[in-house]
Amino acid sequence: MAKAGLNRMDMPKQAVSDRIQNFSEVATGYTPADAHTEAARCLQCKKRYCVEGCPVNIDIPEFILALRDGNMPEAARVLKKTNSLPGVCGRVCPQETQCEQACILNKKEAPIAIGRLERFVADWERGHSAEVNLPKSLKPKSGKKAAVVGAGPAGLTAAAELARLGHDVTLFESLHTAGGVLMYGIPEFRLPKDIVQGEIEYVKSLGVTLELNSVAGRLFSLEDLFKQGFQAVFLATGAGLPLFLNVQGENLSGVYSANEFLTRVNLMKAHNFPSSDTPVKKGRKVAVIGGGNVAMDAARCALRLGAEEVSIVYRRSELELPARKEEVDNAREEGIKFHFLTSPVRFLANEQGQVRAMECQKMALGEPDASGRRRPIPVGGSEFEMDIDLAVIALGTRPNPLVMQSAPDLQVNSNGTVLADINGQTSHRAVWAGGDIVTGSDTVISAMGAAKRSAVVIDEYLRSL
Ligand SMILES: Cc1cc2nc3c(=O)[nH]c(=O)nc-3n(C[C@H](O)[C@H](O)[C@H](O)COP(=O)(O)OP(=O)(O)OC[C@H]3O[C@@H](n4cnc5c(N)ncnc54)[C@H](O)[C@@H]3O)c2cc1C
Ligand code: SF4
Repeated sequence: MAKAGLNRMDMPKQAVSDRIQNFSEVATGYTPADAHTEAARCLQCKKRYCVEGCPVNIDIPEFILALRDGNMPEAARVLKKTNSLPGVCGRVCPQETQCEQACILNKKEAPIAIGRLERFVADWERGHSAEVNLPKSLKPKSGKKAAVVGAGPAGLTAAAELARLGHDVTLFESLHTAGGVLMYGIPEFRLPKDIVQGEIEYVKSLGVTLELNSVAGRLFSLEDLFKQGFQAVFLATGAGLPLFLNVQGENLSGVYSANEFLTRVNLMKAHNFPSSDTPVKKGRKVAVIGGGNVAMDAARCALRLGAEEVSIVYRRSELELPARKEEVDNAREEGIKFHFLTSPVRFLANEQGQVRAMECQKMALGEPDASGRRRPIPVGGSEFEMDIDLAVIALGTRPNPLVMQSAPDLQVNSNGTVLADINGQTSHRAVWAGGDIVTGSDTVISAMGAAKRSAVVIDEYLRSL
């Protein structure tokens, strides 16, 4: 494998012509030689800027040193000590704005490819768990019971940490599968589902009891959990309620929320229909509205389902795109078109009530708004029609209020997120919350970091009872 610019080892990928026809992982992973060459670049700094840049404080120099020395079991142990989901994080974390941004090498060349090395070690560990022999617990059994609600990255992390700290943990998940967005949102070609399930098995192996099909707020309330003997609750139900444009025609057939579109394709395997039970509409000309990771994922799924043309329609400019650069580059390589400074005004129907076009308006950028990004302003008289037969709205999400409605003493912010302090403490003395339910749609690693902070204080609380 050739070295990339600035000495960093490139990530091998499937050829574009192949990958747009399948749902297999695009990035195929470092070879052992690639990984060793990349690991050898690490300076093993005394002042560990990279660790400070990691929300779960992985001992990055330590795992890279073990990898460089060929001690793979030790590299895996170092990773797992602070991160129960390294195979996930090595694939989807935005390292470029976290550990890799903080890496000292950034000053003169490319930073160490920390995420790719993390993925390499995590993938090695999958076939060698016996050699790794991870310690299952950190503290003696407490005899205390904790409930975790929601089995996405925040809930899985809190459950794993609390179990390792010696508590009896039950993890309640509303869907028939654990994993949250890792299973129903992020597509197989970025995050293979067997990797997610392997890491969930590890969490279960720590003694966590997983209760699937358990919808909090409908089948039981938080108070019911306390009545059942749980002494602390960690809420991690995410932000799964999609936002819409609220424009005419948005309810037409052929206009999906990204949540529904991606859930059909990823969790329910609609790309295998009729072998799977769930269908999905396959568009010929597809517009995806939004500029985040969700929009890139939806666009690339639509392409793999057979669309002739897929466009990202984003109301700001390329500079403001919130998606990871790597994913924008992948989307571009695959032929996704980008329409910047463009916003839909309404959707138009054909005689069968199916969407046939989207009327759009051009935008200009004004002063920065509350988000710090320049505010898009409609340009008068700039309306035009875009022919489409499928639209996917990927404008963001907010927490589903179901759980909060069943817990009236839980304070909620005006945007629907749960009010919690830095450690996740809510207005209820025995309820903590973390991840997207508190921050709104954010990242896997920030959800995991929040869960780890809460686990520390929940442990103190339970041991004080
Ligand atoms: C398509 C997509 C792509 C993304 N790409 C990236 C990326 O590349 N990198 C990145 O870092 N982040 C990415 N994100 C964001 C990231 O996935 C989220 O920030 C993260 O999953 C939040 O974790 P969480 O545990 O808080 O919530 P979730 O992952 O949403 O998990 C919440 C869980 O709670 C369950 N639940 C909900 N309500 C109830 C209830 N009433 N009772 C019981 N269980 C319930 C849900 O079914 C779910 O399993 C992406 C998000 C999406 C949607
Ligand atoms: S800052 Fe970069 S070079 Fe230094 S120890 Fe961390 S990864 Fe290695």
